[in-house]
Amino acid sequence: MKYNSTTDKKIVVSASQAIAQGISTDGGLFVPVEIPHYTLDDISELAKLDYRGRAKKILSDYLDDFTKEEIDECVEKAYTKEKFGSDDPAPISFEKFGDTDMNILELWHGPTSAFKDMALQILPHLLTKSLRKTSPDKEVVILVATSGDTGKAALEGFKDVDGTKIMVFYPVDGVSPMQKRQMNTQEGNNVAVCAIKGNFDDAQTGVKQIFTDKDLIKKLNENGYIFSSANSINWGRLLPQIVYYFSAYANLLNSGKISLGDKINVAVPTGNFGNILASYYAYRMGLPINKFICASNSNNVLTDFISTGVYDKNRHFYATISPSMDILVSSNLERFLYHMTDGNDTLVKSWMTSLKTEGKYSVDDTTKSKITDIFAGGFCDDEKTQQIIGEFFNKYGYLCDTHTAVAVSVYKDYVEKTGDKTVTVIDSTASPYKFSKAVLEAVSENDTLPDDEFAMVDMLSQKTNTDVPAPLAALKTKETRFSSVCDKSEMADFVLSTLGVQ
Ligand SMILES: *Cc1c(COP(=O)(O)O)cnc(C)c1O
Repeated sequence: MKYNSTTDKKIVVSASQAIAQGISTDGGLFVPVEIPHYTLDDISELAKLDYRGRAKKILSDYLDDFTKEEIDECVEKAYTKEKFGSDDPAPISFEKFGDTDMNILELWHGPTSAFKDMALQILPHLLTKSLRKTSPDKEVVILVATSGDTGKAALEGFKDVDGTKIMVFYPVDGVSPMQKRQMNTQEGNNVAVCAIKGNFDDAQTGVKQIFTDKDLIKKLNENGYIFSSANSINWGRLLPQIVYYFSAYANLLNSGKISLGDKINVAVPTGNFGNILASYYAYRMGLPINKFICASNSNNVLTDFISTGVYDKNRHFYATISPSMDILVSSNLERFLYHMTDGNDTLVKSWMTSLKTEGKYSVDDTTKSKITDIFAGGFCDDEKTQQIIGEFFNKYGYLCDTHTAVAVSVYKDYVEKTGDKTVTVIDSTASPYKFSKAVLEAVSENDTLPDDEFAMVDMLSQKTNTDVPAPLAALKTKETRFSSVCDKSEMADFVLSTLGVQ
């Protein structure tokens, strides 16, 4: 199985190279040259396995330069009961929803209480094994731009992993207090965190620039380092996410909610387009999916793109209560466009160039109609998000976080508009306790709320009779280790000074 760049098909690499490099040398993203195909019989076989078994099968079909033992080890180390609280790291909650078509896929039972753990608990293992194959004597420097959840999940995944150093950049005013605290108290001897004066897109652009800065790369190489990425531009982030869509289907099958071959819808709260793209790969592999419901917050660049075929990031940037989706440049859309144009690298390159120079591009009518055949887009503002959290809690006794609520809202609008009765998997991407203030406001009518984050956490727990995830509760007494704030022009300097390279 080979991978090529979305913007130059002549660049072809192995699976381990794709993961070790993170991004192609021409700035494109790596995509699989061929997508494995599963029959319904294969899916029925997968359904007999546990999550780890399902992961091993799917990963081994994509990572053919890994041995079976290597894949087994990666999976066994990542998805433990200890880290995810049960043997199924991605359980479906449907009991509370009676005979509705809603099934909440809970992806936040990992160590940092967000779905990013599903990929970032396994990525360090995939990456260190890839590096052993490609650059055995180099130490890898992982750079991460985060809108809140990736940063912590990556820090936790990579902390004290031999042969790695990790640095995280987050927008200083663009993450929740709990997310900030999670990152600034991070333990480990190979970690560094820096806030930047700017938004997520600035952080992401800064990191991409460092990755393609030839002089900087050379300087680091001379000092024994190579760069890699833990953002969802890395194939090693996307691949593990494909697994939970198959697993969700298998769980629905095993519970009798669907029969083999029945189609499902997926509703995904979307920012960088990684999570929903993973469901698209699952579909291309043969998973019966009817519609992809792409849910955005007020930063609704994707909603507009799906309805008009024009991607235009020249618009107001909103800092919302679902900060992990406050993104105007959805990086993984590039991979989707590549597949939607049957691998037309020239076309993808022209769109990405136009995005860089003018902040926009428009796709041709054929591509647009291919997209709208399978995708439905929608968005939801903060007020509606909180209204949904309140309604959902009062009606079903289910407490969801702000991001999940965006998906629920857009799903409801979709059903109202289309009458589509297909059984739907709604991705729940974070614990409500990462966004206590907004969630507490949503379920409290006239109470006065405390100012302190942890007082809010306690109040939310009492009010809703739900448990605070232990790792979040433990942050209350942790020491702050990182408080640097830098300009976006100083990111490269931060990297060099952290590494002690002149
Ligand atoms: C990252 C994140 C998202 C968006 O996922 P993408 O893969 O970037 O589309 C949604 N919700 C939460 C809680 C997240 O952390």
